[in-house]
Amino acid sequence: MSAPFRSYVLVSREQIARNYRNVRSVVGPGVEVAGVVKADAYGHGALEVSRVLAAEGATCLAVSSVEEGVNLRRGGIHQIRILVMGGFLPYEGEALVEYDLTPAVHSLEQLSRLDRLARSSAKPIGYHLKIDSGMGRLGTRASAAEILAALAEARYAHLEGLMTHFASAADYTSSQTADQLAYFHAVCARLREAGVNAARLHTSSTNAIGYGRSEGWHTMVRAGHALYGYVSPARGEAPRQLLDVKPALTWKAKLLAVKDIPAGALVGYGGTYRAPQAMRIGILGVGYADGVFHRLSNRGKVIAAGKLTPIVGTISMDLTTIDLSHTTALAAGDDVTLLGAEGEARLDAQQIARVAGTISYNILCSISARVRRVYV
Ligand SMILES: *Cc1c(COP(=O)(O)O)cnc(C)c1O
Repeated sequence: MSAPFRSYVLVSREQIARNYRNVRSVVGPGVEVAGVVKADAYGHGALEVSRVLAAEGATCLAVSSVEEGVNLRRGGIHQIRILVMGGFLPYEGEALVEYDLTPAVHSLEQLSRLDRLARSSAKPIGYHLKIDSGMGRLGTRASAAEILAALAEARYAHLEGLMTHFASAADYTSSQTADQLAYFHAVCARLREAGVNAARLHTSSTNAIGYGRSEGWHTMVRAGHALYGYVSPARGEAPRQLLDVKPALTWKAKLLAVKDIPAGALVGYGGTYRAPQAMRIGILGVGYADGVFHRLSNRGKVIAAGKLTPIVGTISMDLTTIDLSHTTALAAGDDVTLLGAEGEARLDAQQIARVAGTISYNILCSISARVRRVYV
């Protein structure tokens, strides 16, 4: 299908639902699957994706910031827990309470701030305590004894979960995941011995699910990338991939012009491409302002008339030039595929990332707000 926009993405709701069901079937019925919809659901549209997951029976969504959580509530996502993984800053406390968001608390100082907030508001506030088990990013490094002391002080806010995050779950040349899990389990065991039982324990995101690190699944997992059809490639000797997920997003752009240029003609800013022979080029109404990586200049490919064809010259803010010498089938107004499949040709975010020198997450999240989202 084609839509009347210079550049647009088609998001398949059904594929997102299938991917979510696939994650659920891999982890099994005893494990809750929190759908990670931060960063506008990795470019897929947080509200639309949240609606799909809610319809599939999801009981928890995860976002990065209070603002992202508020947007979901204002968009009509109720009766479903929203975990704010990035915690909250002092000025966000009020919104946290008003919109019934569940923060991941990542320091004991933040825990006492949340407890004061819970005491002064009439509402119950639940939270998940995030432990830094060795990633060295958000999470408390406090000892179990220090955590117990802080929990004893915090009598108003309610501990719903204990969580940590893995730095290298797809890396089978490193023991970092096992080390992190051992640290997390030791803290949890000390808390349990002292009578602290959080209803939910969670450590795993897509890679720890896909590569079957089931000792890290506990009672909940947090799946983002998998919902959108991706698992990162492994390093080293990884076990068999358990997930069977597929990309849900196709990115298209319209040809604004098709023209023939003679041998020796230069293309684009800086004249970085010189036509080696007479050729046909197409000029697309999409550029780096839409999220096409500038690094793809003279390197990347798109799919035109069912065939992979190179990007030629430097990518501009709003325009990208491609080689159309292989076809006479396309004219101004026709669509070209930047990410997706046409016939036998395929281009996914992982392939594009490799050429652009980045990761698939970065490709998906960079598709800018100017690119219209169309749901099918
Ligand atoms: C983004 C994120 C996730 C989801 O990770 P995926 O690899 O996309 O599944 C899970 N947990 C935390 C803390 C995150 O920041």
